Amino acid sequence: PRGSNPLAAPERQDAGASTSYAGVRAFDDLPISQYTKDGLKKHKYVTLTAIQRAALPHALAGRDVLGAAKTGSGKTLTFLIPVVEKLYRAKWTRLDGLGGLVLTPTRELAVQIFEELKKVGTYHDLSAALLIGGKAVAEEATRVASMNILVCTPGRLLQHMDETPGFDTASLQILVLDEADRILDMGFAATLDAIVANLPRERQTMLFSATQTKSVRDLARLSLTDPEYLAVHAEA
Ligand code: ADP
Ligand code: MG
Repeated sequence: PRGSNPLAAPERQDAGASTSYAGVRAFDDLPISQYTKDGLKKHKYVTLTAIQRAALPHALAGRDVLGAAKTGSGKTLTFLIPVVEKLYRAKWTRLDGLGGLVLTPTRELAVQIFEELKKVGTYHDLSAALLIGGKAVAEEATRVASMNILVCTPGRLLQHMDETPGFDTASLQILVLDEADRILDMGFAATLDAIVANLPRERQTMLFSATQTKSVRDLARLSLTDPEYLAVHAEA
């Protein structure tokens, strides 16, 4: 039964009745905004990768997702498209504060994610920022409070949660843990727990890793609700 043993989860590309568009091959065929489609097209993204085909239908339907697929398989768009679409559908404006949060283990990965976010968000009117240290906390703090989407490393995010006045996570709609296995390997488990404790429970959560380890499964229990487990082992 679903959820009983995520480590043994088979490849699932048939996503079920409520997501019958799971067979789509192209971004243009997804139920996403024209703004997102145009941004993807502008940056030459046309055909979905296997993890994108497997996970996007569930993610776009608002479900929690745990996705495992090897490095280079296209996990970034798999979570960024649902983040942007969630806020677009909610008619999120710059005045609505923090709606989406992406956590990743390193500054380098955060920068890469942010570059992809700029592509997906090219024609959207959303604000986004990187929160990765390297600047004075106070300097970051002036911008952090008003952003719609933040891409963060865990330590830096928790520091702002603790120290930055006016940094409000109460309206958060969607949380992404990218490279959850590495986040744990790097010793961020306690930091992650503290972050998640600060977030509203009513939200969508997506958790991605390159491997399906027991610790990732444990993390999923903490932060996912009735998740879809999707593992893609090879490019289709
Ligand atoms: P992962 O996070 O799984 O390691 P990335 O999201 O970083 O993989 O994607 C790896 C590379 O593949 C990036 O250069 C990205 O731009 C590219 N890519 C992702 N999705 C697609 C796609 N649907 N079509 C073409 N290239 C893609
Ligand atoms: Mg990645």
